[in-house]
Amino acid sequence: MSDLEQTAIERLKAASDMSLRLFEKPLVITYSGGKDSDVLLHLAEKSGIPFEVLHSLTTADAPETVRHVYDTFRRLEEKDVKCTVDKHVQPDGSRVTMWNLIPRKLMPPTRVVRYCCAELKEGGGKGRFIATGVRWAESTARRKNRGSLEVLHSNRQKSLILANDNDEGRRLFETCQMKGQRVINPIIDWQDDDVLDYAAVEKIPMNPLYCEGFHRVGCVGCPMASKARTMEFARYPRIKAAYIRAFDRMLEERKKRSLPCQWQSSVDVFHWWMRDGVLPGQEVLDGFEEDV
Ligand code: SF4
Repeated sequence: MSDLEQTAIERLKAASDMSLRLFEKPLVITYSGGKDSDVLLHLAEKSGIPFEVLHSLTTADAPETVRHVYDTFRRLEEKDVKCTVDKHVQPDGSRVTMWNLIPRKLMPPTRVVRYCCAELKEGGGKGRFIATGVRWAESTARRKNRGSLEVLHSNRQKSLILANDNDEGRRLFETCQMKGQRVINPIIDWQDDDVLDYAAVEKIPMNPLYCEGFHRVGCVGCPMASKARTMEFARYPRIKAAYIRAFDRMLEERKKRSLPCQWQSSVDVFHWWMRDGVLPGQEVLDGFEEDV
């Protein structure tokens, strides 16, 4: 067993003990269908702890990712692991989706304003101890703001973030009286290659999109994906069409509220959002029309 694997398993075992003690319920493994969450899930299975699995439906994931999540859940359910898909159902029975969030928020999600992550990906597993596949190597922001053990307060400034989960850190975490979601990030210190090498050595069934040139498999069109978005929308024209329809409804909402608007149409919004240099109303050459 490598040092990284051993440390991750120790973290999972410690979190599992705390979850059973503090919440009287098993640890919840959050699962997105991406490589980090597949490695996390494998480690949880290998550690022998009791656990449940939670997937938050974003409604903008690629069909291959959704299929991979459901295949994984079927395999786990055969082993009697409780698997839940959070469809963001509201008290009135309606659901929050990417397509109704955009008109509600009156703007497309951007790198700076990622309201969709807050509503569709984070915040699951309320009142439970959760484990995530967050890693420092993913971004500078994660390096600065995330730790191996966390008590997340709604006011981010008040959160307890522990980069070091030694005995003293664990004691501090366990005795912390603050209300807030408790999180363990067992592979926080893994590099990209550590994840890929481990998945290969352990023969972990991964999302098939990684074999087709995808480096990340979040929502199609995620503003964090930069240049990959063009390739994603060429591959998934129906998801592109769904964004454009949502932008249409967003423009209607802005009009209703007499809000200032720099766009003439939903296609203008799309090009602004993609930063692809196509200007509002710009003539499009034959054969290059919008396929929506
Ligand atoms: S992964 Fe990207 S598009 Fe999906 S919810 Fe998060 S910020 Fe939004």
